[in-house]
Amino acid sequence: MKLATGVVNDHISYLDNGLLGAAGFGSTYLVRGTELAIVETGTSLCAPDVLAGLAQLGVRPTDIRHIVLTHVHMDHAGGAGTLARQMPDANVYLHSLTIPHLIDPSKLLASAARALGALFPAHGTLEPLASDRLYPAEELRLDLGHDVVLQAIYTPGHSPDHLSYLDLASGAFFTGDAVGVDLPVYRYLGPVTPPPAIDVDLQQRTFEQLLELPIKQLLFSHFGPAQADPHSVIEQLRDRYTQFTQLVRAGVEVGHVDEAAILRTMLKTDDLPDDAAWVLAGWINMSIRGMTRYWSKQ
Ligand SMILES: [Zn+2]
Repeated sequence: MKLATGVVNDHISYLDNGLLGAAGFGSTYLVRGTELAIVETGTSLCAPDVLAGLAQLGVRPTDIRHIVLTHVHMDHAGGAGTLARQMPDANVYLHSLTIPHLIDPSKLLASAARALGALFPAHGTLEPLASDRLYPAEELRLDLGHDVVLQAIYTPGHSPDHLSYLDLASGAFFTGDAVGVDLPVYRYLGPVTPPPAIDVDLQQRTFEQLLELPIKQLLFSHFGPAQADPHSVIEQLRDRYTQFTQLVRAGVEVGHVDEAAILRTMLKTDDLPDDAAWVLAGWINMSIRGMTRYWSKQ
């Protein structure tokens, strides 16, 4: 599969990392100062496509000095161990809360298998990382030279370890899953709330916090740079999140969450290629399970 690369601005590019075997679901970003960083890795199965994309952008794996991760989920950090092996000079950054899971991935793999269900085999594996490759990212202010600085912003809600990164020079913002997903190829904009650690109140605070930040452009991990105004995209995603939350909560309150009906409401279309429909339905069903678990425990 030949996958796309693209330009965000004079120091940020992106590549399609082929997440879950389809185009348009997972992006890895390349940030160039005097030093080079990538943001997000995709899964371990994405590593060959990340390296191919970097080659298209004229970068060798040994050029990468920093691997910056938004959170520990396998579609974001799963490839870190595999890529770090081929990027011997790269430090890896993640919230300190979940750094232990990249050193000993056994618990994370078991948790991911439960959360992902049928999607789990498509997430590859986790190669353990040596602890001296890993750095806590919650206070990160990564100066890459040439006035390119990435500032970590704590954005919990999707997960307790979630960090996003603001490029101080351009106002570009690496969202991770902090506000949901925006999949232009599939005309889908919506929440992603996997079990077991979402938090609706923290999520609302994250939406509020991000609406106050000087963000000029949203760079989604799923997928790519948003074309529309960042504040309007965040507001739309907040509305979709609220709608989704209320649908699931109403189901929990009457003792029956109608997954098929909620899926139809969120998806809005049957007109998707099979590989994309499989991923999107999988994400939405996983989100319904995460949200159901959350309200059942309240
Ligand atoms: Zn994700």
